Parts: sequence; C-alpha cells; structure tokens
Amino acid sequence: MPDYDVVVVGAGNGGLTSALSLAAKGLDVLLLERHNVPGGCATSFVRGRFEFEVALHQLSGMGGPERPGPLRDLLNRLGVMDKVEFVEEDTLYRAVLPGLLDVTIPADRNGAAAALKDRFPGEAGAVDRFLELVWEFCNQWVATFVLRDPEASKARYPVYFTYALKTAAEVLDAHFKDPLLKLALAEYWGYMGLPPSRLPFADLAILIWVYIEFKPYHMKGGSQALSNALLDSFLEKGGRVRFNCAARKIRVAGNRVQGVVTEDGDEISADYVMSNASSLLTYVELVGPENAPPQELANLGTGTVGPSAFTVYLGLDREPKDLGLEVSTTFITDDADMDRHYALWRTLDPPGTTGVTCYDVADPEFSPPGACQVVVISLQYAEPWLTVPPARYAETKYRYAEYLLDRAERVYPGLRNHIEECEVATPLTHLRYLGHPGGAIYGFDQYAKDSNLFWERTSAIKGLYFAGAWVGSGGFQPTLESGVLAARAILRDMGR
Ligand SMILES: Cc1cc2nc3c(=O)[nH]c(=O)nc-3n(C[C@H](O)[C@H](O)[C@H](O)COP(=O)(O)OP(=O)(O)OC[C@H]3O[C@@H](n4cnc5c(N)ncnc54)[C@H](O)[C@@H]3O)c2cc1C
Repeated sequence: MPDYDVVVVGAGNGGLTSALSLAAKGLDVLLLERHNVPGGCATSFVRGRFEFEVALHQLSGMGGPERPGPLRDLLNRLGVMDKVEFVEEDTLYRAVLPGLLDVTIPADRNGAAAALKDRFPGEAGAVDRFLELVWEFCNQWVATFVLRDPEASKARYPVYFTYALKTAAEVLDAHFKDPLLKLALAEYWGYMGLPPSRLPFADLAILIWVYIEFKPYHMKGGSQALSNALLDSFLEKGGRVRFNCAARKIRVAGNRVQGVVTEDGDEISADYVMSNASSLLTYVELVGPENAPPQELANLGTGTVGPSAFTVYLGLDREPKDLGLEVSTTFITDDADMDRHYALWRTLDPPGTTGVTCYDVADPEFSPPGACQVVVISLQYAEPWLTVPPARYAETKYRYAEYLLDRAERVYPGLRNHIEECEVATPLTHLRYLGHPGGAIYGFDQYAKDSNLFWERTSAIKGLYFAGAWVGSGGFQPTLESGVLAARAILRDMGR
C-alpha cells in the first residue's frame, strides 16, 4: 500500500484547490510546501501595523450572490464561501497619461462605453462595435472552450474562430485610430504580461468581459485569507500538510509515478503526484531529464518564461480620500507605446506603465483606522536583476522603487510624505519565495499563436498531473480552477 493516494507538491492556488478537491472525495492526500505558509503568490506579510497583500489586485470571475460567476460557484462547491468575505469593486480602472488622458472605466458595460465615448466622441461608433465584438467573442468562447460544444465549428461559432488567433493589436487597430483610446482599452495587458502586439485578442477580450460581467473583487484579509480557508477545509477533510518541506524528487519507474522524496530525504510513496511547481522545475529537477518524456522536454524548450513583478508596498498614514485615491486601480503611463513599455521590462530603466492599487477604497477596513495600503507595481523580467552584483542589489532595488514612486506621484502627489511602512519586492524576491524560474508569476509567456489553447495539461508519465499557472493561464481564477480540473482528471483515472 502506498503511503498516500496523492502527494500534492506546492500549496499555491492550484495546489490548494486540487488537494482540497481530492481530500473531499475521501482520498488520502499529503500537501508539501517549501515555504512556511500556504498560498504561493496568494499570500501576505506584515510590516508594522499593516498586513500587505502580496499579489492580488483584482479577482476575476466572482460575481455577486444573485449572479454568481464561475469562481463563486467553484468556491461554493469547495465549501469555503462561509470562511471568506469578498468585496466588490465598481470600477475596472482609471487610465492616466498625464496631460493627455484621464479616464475612469466603470465595471459595467454601458458605463464603460459611456466613459470612453465621452472622452473619444469621434470614435463612439467604434467603441460600441468593439464592445459588441468582445461580448460576442466571449459568448462563443464559453460555448467552445469552456463548455466544449462537441459540434463546435467555424460555421457555428464564426466570431470565435475568426478572432481566436488574432492579436489584441490587430483587433484594436482595425477598430480605432486614436492611440490613447487603444491604450485606455488595453490597460489590462499588464495582467497577462504581454503587450497588445503579442497578446492574444482572446485574452484581452476575456479580461474586459469577465471583469465587467462578474466585477473585480478582493477579499477581507487579502488573498492569504482565501489560501488559509482552502487549507483549513483541506485539513477538515483529513488532508495532511507539511510546510518548510520541498519535494526534491518525484520518483518515477517504468513511466509510472512512485512517490516523492522530500528535501529532508523522506521517501513518501504514492501512485499520483500533482505538481503545482513549475513544469520546468518538475521535469528538469524533480522528475529528472532521464525520466522525463523527450517530447515533453522538447515542448518545454519552445516556451519562454514569462515576467515577474517589481512591487513597492506602502503603508500610508492617511485614508485614501486624503491622498486623492478614489478608485482601487490606476494605470499610469508615460506614453501610448506599449511595445516600448514591454521592452523596458527587460531593463533596469524606469518603467513606462505603472499600476497603483489602493485596497482601502473598496474596503475601508483593509488597513488600520486612518491609514491605507497602496501597492505600486510594474511587471519585469528577472534577467536584468540577475546581472546585478549582490553588493549593488539594495541600491539598485531602492533606485528602481523611486522610479515607481515618481510615477505614482504624478497622479497622486504627496504619497511619499505619508509613508509609514515600505517594502519592496523584485523578481528575485518572487524567484526566492516561489522557486519558479525567473520568479515568473504567470508561468510561460502566452503569445497569440502559442497560448494555452494548444498545451497539454497531462503528462505522458502515468500518475503525474499539474495544476497552476505553468500549465494554463496565470492569475487567480484560472489557477484556482486548474486545481479542480486536475483533481477531476486524477479521479477519472482512478475510475471514481
Ligand atoms: C505581484 C503579483 C501581482 C499579481 N496580481 C494578480 C492579480 O491582480 N490578479 C490575478 O488574477 N493574478 C495576479 N497575480 C498572479 C497570480 O497570483 C498567480 O498567477 C497565481 O497565484 C499562481 O498560482 P499557482 O497555482 O500557479 O501557484 P504559485 O502561486 O506559483 O505557487 C506555487 C507554490 O509551489 C511551491 N513550490 C514550488 N516548488 C516546490 C517544491 N519543490 N516543493 C514544494 N513546494 C514547491 C511554491 O513555494 C508555491 O507556494 C499576481 C502575482 C503577483 C506575484
């Protein structure tokens, strides 16, 4: 008899929902996590009187109780809804290019259209046509990709088939003339890690649609509260967890999983292993190239590791309104050249796009009374940071943080005067805490013609499964969903 039915490696979103789904079906599940808390990216840390949200800016797919979205349904089925309180936001974002653009886009379709048409009256018709296309595309995407209509064809779903492989830039260019309007509509490109010229239109469309249809959300206590709730439910179902305990090897014999070896040398037998670690680490280090299927190793070589993030976490001694913060999310740009901004992610030069999130706008209890929490972020690849000598790291990090604060202050002047706590994370911080190559927060880059539409989520090694950003899409909703789907695949394989 193996020690466990399933060993789950990694307690990120995908690892937690897969572990809970399997334990809820009565399986004997062990969860191994190299860090000392659950969540992976979905976590928090404390400085002074602030508990800082590490990752989540806007949660997609929730919907309200009266019109639940897919994520609310999923969390209901996992039995964690009564453990976490969710907070709805009423705007997508404020898009600012100082002196040229300042538009706030509400999280409802008519309001978003009105805000854009008000600012760009000459392209009002194109705004309506674009939003119509986004909705039609997403409805057809749900039917084909989500609900897997077996009769799917170009004749049945012409909009989906026509636009699925186009880039966001192709579609924006076909609709609009004004680069500022394209910028205002494409701001969510940072949530996917690729500029519109490389980003699948599908991803931009789905982001706009899902955040409007089901609203952006956050949760009381931050994403750590959700990670804790998932872990609690897993333990209640009889699951077992070991923190500070990385898997060092996944044992494979005769193309079949045998179990794992921990970094302490413990050998744990299991017929199934679910990996929430990156697929690169899983094959190259845990399984080992000698046991990895050659085709899967070759496939890994075709992907490029996606961006990480540079984040300045600020605890401020004022309420949001005192600092002019009236929306939760603001994107501040230097110009409308998103390709240039993307290229800057591979340098240590000042970023072209900066996101500013204030959690207390939607949830006035997020921070202690009279204070608020603001996060200033730019995505970045790890490469430039890997070239910084250790002796220059702190200086380089704080210089880059100043670039971000300068940009935030262009729209919210005076932030610096109210800093009570400040912490800074670079791509190397994420690399260290997650163990992912490049500290990547969304897994591989997903170009229009190499998106997860084409990826295999299962392995040719029997008993090896994956959950998380590296085998699908990054982000909270997709990774939480991926764990449930991967658990289902194991249960199917077991004939349960
Ligand atoms: C700064 C930042 C901002 C973000 N903003 C948003 C946002 O606004 N909206 C959104 O939807 N998404 C956002 N994301 C992305 C989102 O958080 C991630 O894509 C998602 O949480 C990844 O989940 P995952 O299941 O892939 O696991 P991960 O979070 O990648 O966790 C993997 C886990 O595996 C563990 N692990 C790795 N190797 C081993 C091993 N050998 N043994 C044991 N354990 C191991 C790691 O320690 C980690 O806990 C953001 C991320 C960051 C960092």
